[in-house]
Amino acid sequence: MENKAPRGTYDILPPVSGKWQYVEQILRETAALYGFHEIRTPIFEHTELFERGVGSTTDVVGKEMYTFKDRSDRSLTLRPENTASCARALIEHSVYSGILPVKWYYMGPMFRYDRPQAGRYRQFHQFGAEVFGSNDPRVDAEIILLLLDILQRLNLSDYELHLNSVGCTVCRSRYREKLVKHITPVQERLCRDCKQRYEQNPLRVLDCKNEKCQEAIQGYPRFFDYLCEDCREHYSQVKNSLTDNGVRFIHDDRLVRGLDYYTRTAFEVHIPGIGAQSAVGGGGRYDGLVEDCGGPQVPGIGFAMGIERLLLALQELDYDNLQDNYLDVFIAVMDHNFEDTALKTLQELRAAGIRSDKDYLCRSPKAQMKYADRLGARLVILIGEEEVRHKVFTVRDMNSKKQETVTAEDLLRYIRSILVKQD
Ligand code: AMP
Repeated sequence: MENKAPRGTYDILPPVSGKWQYVEQILRETAALYGFHEIRTPIFEHTELFERGVGSTTDVVGKEMYTFKDRSDRSLTLRPENTASCARALIEHSVYSGILPVKWYYMGPMFRYDRPQAGRYRQFHQFGAEVFGSNDPRVDAEIILLLLDILQRLNLSDYELHLNSVGCTVCRSRYREKLVKHITPVQERLCRDCKQRYEQNPLRVLDCKNEKCQEAIQGYPRFFDYLCEDCREHYSQVKNSLTDNGVRFIHDDRLVRGLDYYTRTAFEVHIPGIGAQSAVGGGGRYDGLVEDCGGPQVPGIGFAMGIERLLLALQELDYDNLQDNYLDVFIAVMDHNFEDTALKTLQELRAAGIRSDKDYLCRSPKAQMKYADRLGARLVILIGEEEVRHKVFTVRDMNSKKQETVTAEDLLRYIRSILVKQD
């Protein structure tokens, strides 16, 4: 057996998992600030949900899904994204007939059989937010503001917001016709993928990264010129609300996004510094999705951001501060007869909310101090013959290297006074 995680997957070990928790905490706190509540859906769903929800002509459904049969011959798929599952849950629990709009956020692993590279994995993690039940363009603005606020709170201010409108079913089909007319004479010059896109989903040719394709379609008709009155009005209000709130954006008429369900607003946020996979998040409006999944007409909008990409962008930052409080107190025994006293004291400290630990490998006193240092302990409590006899503890400050003797009654107060100073 090969002792290696499957290609495109990886383990998150401490202390890196501490960075994940830090990011996850900011994601949760910011979502709560905007009135979003968490939804958790299954990791796998019926394959049909993604075929109908995400769209069978998309790369995600066509090439990237982990689909398998269970023992009862049902076709199931590890979720490649979470929006379709949210729509399914909205329908299954009739949430749409309750108080609207519904504001959900989610966080967890997604699975796509993609070519792994830096920033692209087969099991990756997304944080996403969805709003169901409102057509208001200010909701589009709010969801974008949430995404940008998260970046701001992570100190990632070097981003670019790309914005477009991909219209409604009516103006999109009109535009599609125009675009196909434009591409037809040059279709032979397109890459293999785009030849297929031209047949199945010609809008996707617009955002192909291959320069030859972009050269071939030069002078392509602009979606904006084909938006119907309502879609144009909607787009204009979204832009106004963003500008009102101090957001700068780039109108990007090639931005059509990979998933079929988008209508009207589409957006993507890039952090140019993180390499080829620079999109940290993206989303848009999906007014037809709930219906496509078998429910009533309920408008919606949302985004997903890749947590791996956020961490990639955060790599450069100094995260020593996160490590500082790794351990408040380490208890070292000068004699192994005091191991039980140490464990009891440890439990008292933990009950008081103080992060503490001890040695369990019978290390020598010197080796215990070294170990305490490795664990990043702020304080070390020393328990020896003298201490036990006089019912006191010696507390060593690992920063100043000063030692104090404190009584058992005074221990908690003393420790807290030092930990508070450090905050
Ligand atoms: P999407 O669901 O394709 O709109 O992607 C939303 C965000 O998820 C992207 O902007 C990326 O940050 C992230 N993402 C998508 N696919 C992957 C992947 N294979 N590996 C890592 N992150 C991904």
